[in-house]
Amino acid sequence: MEVRKVILREDELPRQWYNILADIKCNPPIGPDGNPVTPDALAPVFPMNLIEQEVSSERWIDIPEEVLGVLKIWRPSPLVRAVAFEKALGTPARIYYKNESVSPPGSHKPNTAVAQAYYNKAFGIEKMVTETGAGQWGSALAFACSQFGLECKVYMVRVSFDQKPYRKSMMETWGGKCVPSPSTETQAGRNALEKDPNTPGSLGIAISEAIEAAVSDTSGKTRYSLGSVLNHVMLHQTIIGLEAKKQLEKIGEYPDVVIGCAGGGSNFAGLAFPFVLDKINGKKIDIYPVEPAACPTMTKAPFVYDHGDTARYTPLLPMHSLGHAFVPPPIHAGGLRYHGMSPTVSQLITEGIIEPKAVAQNQVYEAGVLFARTEGIIPAPETNHALATTIDAANQAKEEGKEKVIIVNLSGHGLLDLSSYDRYFANELVDLILSEEEILESEKVFEGFPKPQLLKSL
Ligand SMILES: *Cc1c(COP(=O)(O)O)cnc(C)c1O
Repeated sequence: MEVRKVILREDELPRQWYNILADIKCNPPIGPDGNPVTPDALAPVFPMNLIEQEVSSERWIDIPEEVLGVLKIWRPSPLVRAVAFEKALGTPARIYYKNESVSPPGSHKPNTAVAQAYYNKAFGIEKMVTETGAGQWGSALAFACSQFGLECKVYMVRVSFDQKPYRKSMMETWGGKCVPSPSTETQAGRNALEKDPNTPGSLGIAISEAIEAAVSDTSGKTRYSLGSVLNHVMLHQTIIGLEAKKQLEKIGEYPDVVIGCAGGGSNFAGLAFPFVLDKINGKKIDIYPVEPAACPTMTKAPFVYDHGDTARYTPLLPMHSLGHAFVPPPIHAGGLRYHGMSPTVSQLITEGIIEPKAVAQNQVYEAGVLFARTEGIIPAPETNHALATTIDAANQAKEEGKEKVIIVNLSGHGLLDLSSYDRYFANELVDLILSEEEILESEKVFEGFPKPQLLKSL
């Protein structure tokens, strides 16, 4: 009988995360004094146990039992063969998707939210503050905080706050608080509103607000949390790829192509990094992070030092960036509207180990609708980017007449994003492509910043 779904037992859950910093070189983050950031400088922002993970170069890091205990609510997640999707595409490729939509908040994000809430609690923290784009991260952190008895405050990008009211309802159900960003609660928010009272907001602005709110709390019991981009977030997500590898092994498969959508890079990294390790060790695999053509960080923006947020509170990070002042167009895949990209994902791009792709809005929804009508699951708009590139890879396998194995990360479901599907059906989505002039304009902010070195890991 043909395999449709591969399930691992609880006792087969990975017990360690994979840390890619053991295997690649990265430029260090740089602080306001022009020198590499010290762990102490980050102490007001993150608890020290997470800072230690952020800078660690240990290849394997133990997952605490308390974290596994919560992850077991939905993990190991299923690996499913997209038989009907393959058939509709008429491809000889075998396509597998790792279903991260089965978590309580409906995406991969609680993989790190749970770990971060655990480490904050263990460090004696009582309240976590964060930002959210589409609301996926805010709801994931609210869920995780509820599991560990922590307070949670979320600054949500205004355009998504208005488009997706139910994400706020989820956060409140889990006991979190959520306000639209820019808000009048912080200096960063007030500045952004003064510049443009009608701004749709951006992740860059919301990050500034959340950091400011966290570090200005004088109790010492509040810390900030980031749902993507940073090394420790990529680390926590590798449980996805480590499970997927075991699942493929069970059925005697190994991927030729690995695909994930990339906003800050975490779900992509989670699936891909364990396979990147194999590629570093000689395996031949094509690995594609996918972004919207309307926010082309990886495919069009340079590899530079830039701030992670608009108000420039964060250290300078070595990454592909459209500039910290860039306000991405209000496309519906809120989770992919970010000006920067994870430093580790960026480093792999500069070394040619992974190959980024950009796709346009209508192609993205076409892929999502085909997936829904074949596999049944209605994917998140972000996930549809990965599915669009999966279709391209499946078509290429068809042209080449090759039985390729493709694995894609189904990073989340779209049940709270149905209004954007409605707009696609009403023909209201525009294929925005950022022009060279707009990109050059947004990049003026790098003037005077140091430049990262072009490091070679291999
Ligand atoms: C947040 C989100 C993304 C993008 O974030 P990454 O850190 O790049 O993974 C992608 N898909 C879904 C469903 C999300 O919620």
